[in-house]
Amino acid sequence: MDLNCHAIITLRSKTEYVQEKDAETGKTNVRKVGLAPVQRDDFEYEFMLVMDVDKDTHKATIIKDNTFLDAEGFYGVIDANLGKRLKEWLNNGVEPEIYTCECCGNRIKATKVGDSMMSPTQIVENAKKKYGKAMCISCVIEENKRVKAEQEQNNNEEEKVEE
Ligand SMILES: [Zn+2]
Repeated sequence: MDLNCHAIITLRSKTEYVQEKDAETGKTNVRKVGLAPVQRDDFEYEFMLVMDVDKDTHKATIIKDNTFLDAEGFYGVIDANLGKRLKEWLNNGVEPEIYTCECCGNRIKATKVGDSMMSPTQIVENAKKKYGKAMCISCVIEENKRVKAEQEQNNNEEEKVEE
């Protein structure tokens, strides 16, 4: 495609019904699933980013990615914040930094917290504010628990001293 602007395109996909057995109830459910887009075969090569949006959960899975999203492990609802970040990336061409957790060594990926998706940058900024280093959400949660337990321990000891 030879366009002088950023293009967002939605495609219909072929659908098919699949039968799935519910592991708990043993009942057979019929579910509609999306298959390949109705276009010529190599259509997705025209795009930098291709996502498949689930009809039931509205969550997008990356099919093809030449942006920064795959490295982040994006999986979730497409929202305005994602649009802003893509626009910034397209306009400035700056690769978002890839962060590694200083506690467990895993790559810090975008993580859903409550109803919103936190980008790796936001996760790292929060962890640095609180604990002074880059940490993944799991390690921050563990550290929160450890700090809380330590505080309770200290409180108990103070009570003992007062007695
Ligand atoms: Zn970690």
